[in-house]
Amino acid sequence: MPTLTSAPRDASFPMADCALCGKPVLTYVALDDAGAERRICVHCDTAVAENLKWVSPGELEQAGYYFGPPPAESEKGGCSTGCGSCGVKKS
Ligand SMILES: [Zn+2]
Repeated sequence: MPTLTSAPRDASFPMADCALCGKPVLTYVALDDAGAERRICVHCDTAVAENLKWVSPGELEQAGYYFGPPPAESEKGGCSTGCGSCGVKKS
C-alpha cells in the first residue's frame, strides 16, 4: 500500500496560486508524461506551484468555491436559497 505524503485528511482541499488565473485556485492531481504527479489548476489546466495550502471546506467557500455539487437551477432539493450546503432533501 503506497504511503500518502501530503493529504492530511479528506476534509481539506489543496489550493495553490495559479499564475494564469492570478489568484489562489483549487487544484487537482494529474500525471504528466513521465508518470509524475502534478498539481493542476481546475480552471485553466495549468500546472501550479507546489506550495499548496490545505484549506477547510469553510475556507474553500470563502475563496468562492462551493463545497459539493454546484447549485443547479433545476435540481434544488428543498433549499430555495441556493446556499450550496443543503444537500439533504427534507421532504
Ligand atoms: Zn488557473
